[in-house]
Amino acid sequence: MKTFNIALIPGDGIGPEVVAEGVKILKAIESLDSEISFTFTEFSWGCEYYLENGRMMAEDGIERLRAFDAIYLGAVGYPGVPDHISLWDLLLRIRKEFDQYVNIRPITLLNPSLTPLKDKTEKEIDFLVIRENSEGEYAGAGDWLFKGKPEEVVLQTGVFSRKGTERIIRYAYEEARKSKRTLTSISKGNALNYSMVFWDEVFEEVGKEYPDVQTYSYLVDAASLYFVTEPERFEVVVTSNLFGDILTDIGAAITGGMGLATGANINPERNFPSMFEPVHGSAPDISGKGIANPIAAIWSVSQMMDFFGKEQWGATILATIKEILKEKESLTPDLGGTATTQELGDRIVEILCIQA
Ligand code: ATP
Ligand code: MG
Repeated sequence: MKTFNIALIPGDGIGPEVVAEGVKILKAIESLDSEISFTFTEFSWGCEYYLENGRMMAEDGIERLRAFDAIYLGAVGYPGVPDHISLWDLLLRIRKEFDQYVNIRPITLLNPSLTPLKDKTEKEIDFLVIRENSEGEYAGAGDWLFKGKPEEVVLQTGVFSRKGTERIIRYAYEEARKSKRTLTSISKGNALNYSMVFWDEVFEEVGKEYPDVQTYSYLVDAASLYFVTEPERFEVVVTSNLFGDILTDIGAAITGGMGLATGANINPERNFPSMFEPVHGSAPDISGKGIANPIAAIWSVSQMMDFFGKEQWGATILATIKEILKEKESLTPDLGGTATTQELGDRIVEILCIQA
């Protein structure tokens, strides 16, 4: 019997609503599999905590999270708390402190009815975006000079270290090799004449160690177009922090929207906990109404199981989501159904028990 200790940060808005459904799935797995058990420790950090304490998480928050096997996060963000504070003081802080330098976002169409693209099948939209998650354009480096003066200048510097660039590119090559898929690097070497020229060089250099991996290299503007017109070009994609952020939202749009998009923040060395979260935010417009789609949060449980080496469960959860997507009436309003968040979560547990 293996016990996995999970830190829950439900966060704000619809975060707690969808995390509750993900926890239902984990508890179902625990009851179906005598080899697995979970402990859950909840941390009520987020914007409410910020309004009371002036910080998004406890002062010793990072220390308290350090020993967990995984962090399961809902969403943070609240009207009244500036987005850059909620993001930097919790989400980005955890990513950085725990060196979760790999962000994995599957762009997988689970049902052809979900894509706005004409005549695209599940086979044609099925790839993995591996996004650099620790530096690059989101390094937080820059300056704000002559604030409010006519000569005001703002600098936002991208930081691409040799170590940071090599390790993400190597991770992507390993993934492509392991799964026998092609690898596409997305960059912008023609306009970003330092950072992206360097990125392209590293991509080529590291590639010499992987002669068995077929590679492609696209400019980010062209790639954005292909995400929509020819997503079948992509199998494994590696890209920088900013480009990955934007491209994966296009990825979400072509596979069913924010209610389905998931992301894992991985520390591959396993020195620190990794973090699993739906990509969407706190969605204040629908929070408290009980209609948030929990599938993205449940898909991130599938990623968590893969990370724990329980790939069988990862695959079963995904197969279950695929099944539920055929039952229109069991889905939440964003997918055209009439179910509540809890009803959909309960139905997913039911199907999971049958699939398992
Ligand atoms: P953040 O700044 O935290 O990323 P955001 O303003 O970008 O937040 P999201 O919270 O990601 O917005 O959501 C954008 C819109 O998508 C929401 O207003 C909501 O209507 C819809 N949405 C997001 N997540 C879900 C979900 N799980 N179920 C249903 N609708 C959702
Ligand atoms: Mg957003």
